[in-house]
Amino acid sequence: MSDNKNKTLFISDLHLDTDTPVILESLLALLHRQAAGADALYILGDLFEAWVGDDDQSDIADAVAAALLALSQAGTRVYLMHGNRDFLIGEDYASRCGATLLAEPTVIDCYGQRVALVHGDSLCTRDTAYMAYRKQMRDPAWQQAFLDRPLLERHMIAQQMRQKSQEANSQKASDIMDVTHQEVTDLMESLEVNILVHGHTHRPGIHTIRLHESIRGSDEAVRIVLGSWDQKAWVLEFSPEGYELKPFAHPAAAKVANG
Ligand code: MN
Repeated sequence: MSDNKNKTLFISDLHLDTDTPVILESLLALLHRQAAGADALYILGDLFEAWVGDDDQSDIADAVAAALLALSQAGTRVYLMHGNRDFLIGEDYASRCGATLLAEPTVIDCYGQRVALVHGDSLCTRDTAYMAYRKQMRDPAWQQAFLDRPLLERHMIAQQMRQKSQEANSQKASDIMDVTHQEVTDLMESLEVNILVHGHTHRPGIHTIRLHESIRGSDEAVRIVLGSWDQKAWVLEFSPEGYELKPFAHPAAAKVANG
């Protein structure tokens, strides 16, 4: 579809799971409409609610892979970045999706603008308990030991970890689960970008901020936060003319139960 040419889309935090059929439907609708013919689609983490290894067969993983592969074979580049829930997505699954796995952070050229991409959890440094946990989860030795366990055991461990994290988060003040401003400006200055796109916090919005030093002649910068797909779908559309963060209603067939 030519009307999507010169468009690049960014999404994150779909948290797909077996009990979220509407979100899957909503993703498939996006891939068939807004994403069809687009230059690129970036998925910035937490596409899945949980991921215990590429060898874990599921209908939802198959459906997503088939749809992303079709999009990529039709000429739209597809990129996947890990989130804090699906950080174990590997090269096997990425290739089934026709997608390229992105390191974090990644800096891209988006129609002449340098744009930095992260999932966002690395910016929430005031949550010190989470940062310690993150360090362990991102340790390659820990990951390999986990992946070497039987699938059933991995599911049980993942379930326990999710429960613990939900309990811990319910006790935390909401502001410590947002990004730390200083981390944002440090990252943008070190990467020499004026635009940062991330998800994770589930607080969609576009924030204008001042950097401490100017990047390419300007100390003004923009932090774009993608939304989580619970009540609505959120898509950042980037084009040579500019960008827009848009909410979309899910397909009308069913209501979202998970909230
Ligand atoms: Mn996240």
